[in-house]
Amino acid sequence: REDSSFWKDHNVQVIIRIRPLSSSEISVQGNSKCIKQESCQTITWTGHPESRFTFDLVADEHVSQENLFKVAGLPMVENCMGGYNSCMFAYGQTGSGKTHTMLGDIEGGTRRHSVNCGMIPRVFEHLFTRIQKEKDIRKDEKLRFTCKCSFLEIYNEQILDLLDPSSTNLQIREDMKKGVYVENLKEIEVTSARDVIQLLIQGAANRKVAATNMNHASSRSHSVFTCIIESKWESQAVTHHRFARLNLVDLAGSERQKSSGAEGERLKEATNINKSLSTLGLVIMNLVNISNGKSLHVPYRDSKLTFLLQAVVNEDASGDVVAMRLQIQQLKKEVSRLRSFVNGRTEN
Ligand code: ADP
Ligand code: MG
Repeated sequence: REDSSFWKDHNVQVIIRIRPLSSSEISVQGNSKCIKQESCQTITWTGHPESRFTFDLVADEHVSQENLFKVAGLPMVENCMGGYNSCMFAYGQTGSGKTHTMLGDIEGGTRRHSVNCGMIPRVFEHLFTRIQKEKDIRKDEKLRFTCKCSFLEIYNEQILDLLDPSSTNLQIREDMKKGVYVENLKEIEVTSARDVIQLLIQGAANRKVAATNMNHASSRSHSVFTCIIESKWESQAVTHHRFARLNLVDLAGSERQKSSGAEGERLKEATNINKSLSTLGLVIMNLVNISNGKSLHVPYRDSKLTFLLQAVVNEDASGDVVAMRLQIQQLKKEVSRLRSFVNGRTEN
C-alpha cells in the first residue's frame, strides 16, 4: 500500500524482494519456482522440500525501485516527519540485491535521473520535499529543520567512520541525556538529497578502501547510514523540539559464515558475523513479542549493531518521553509502597 497506514498497524514489517535471476541461476534452478499467492503475502517454493513463507509484503522481480520506495520508504519518511524513529535493514545473502535496493545507482543521481537509483537517495529526496512543504504550511510557527547524517561500518565488532576513515575502532557510549551514541563519529549537516548522495558516494568509496586495507569483502561488514532530523517550532511563546532518527542498514551477507577449518582472523570474522546477525534476529523477535504483550529481555548489548541501534527505541531526546518515564518511575514506586503496605497489613 502506498499510504502510511501500512505502518500504523505494526511496528515491525518484513518485505521480501525477489531479484531477477541471472542466466546461470535459471539453469541451476530447473523447474523449481516461486509462486505469489493471494494478496502477494505468501510465496511458495515448489522445489524439494516444498516450503511456504509469509511476509508483510512480497515484491517480485518486476517491482521497480520507485515502487519499492513508495511501499517501504515513503511511510518511513512520514513516520520521521511525525517525530518517530525508523529503521530499515536490508538482509540477505551476498548477491541477493541488498546494496542495489538500498543504494542502487547513486552515481546517476536521484530518481529524476536514474530508474536504478535506490532507497536511500529516494528517501532523502522525499524527506526534503516534505520538509519544504511543512515549512511553507507552518510559516507562522517559524518551523525549522536540521538534518545531520553519519555513515559507519561495523566489521569484526569494530566501528569505522565511513565519512572520516582516519578514525577507527570508535566506541559506543551511553549518556543520560544523549542516550546511546558513537563517540567521535562525524555528523554532517545536509540540506538536500544532493548533499546526501555526496556522502553516500564518499562513504561507499571509503568502504571499498577499508575492505582492501583490512583484507575483507565489504559484504562481510554492516554499513549504517543514520540521519537525525531535528525540528523546532514556536507556539504560544513556547519553543518546541522534536527529534527523529532514521537508520538505513545494509547488513553483512547472511550466508552461513563457515567457522569450520577457519583460523585466526577468518574464524573471528565468521563468529562475529554469525553472532551479530543472530543477535539482530533475536532482538527483533523479542521486540515483536513485547509489542504482543510478552515481557522479555532484549539482548541489545550482545552485538555492536544492536547496541548502536538501541537508540531507535530508547531515544531520550524527546522531552515528552523523559517526562513520561519519570511518571512511570513514580507510579512504580507508589505501587511498590502500596504493595508493601498491603502485605504488611495481611501479615499483621
Ligand atoms: P548484495 O549487496 O546483496 O550482495 P547486490 O545489490 O550487489 O547484492 O546485487 C548483486 C547483483 O544483482 C548486482 O549486479 C545488482 O545490480 C543485481 N541486482 C540486484 N537486485 C536487482 C534487481 N531488483 N533488479 C536488477 N538487478 C538487481
Ligand atoms: Mg552489497
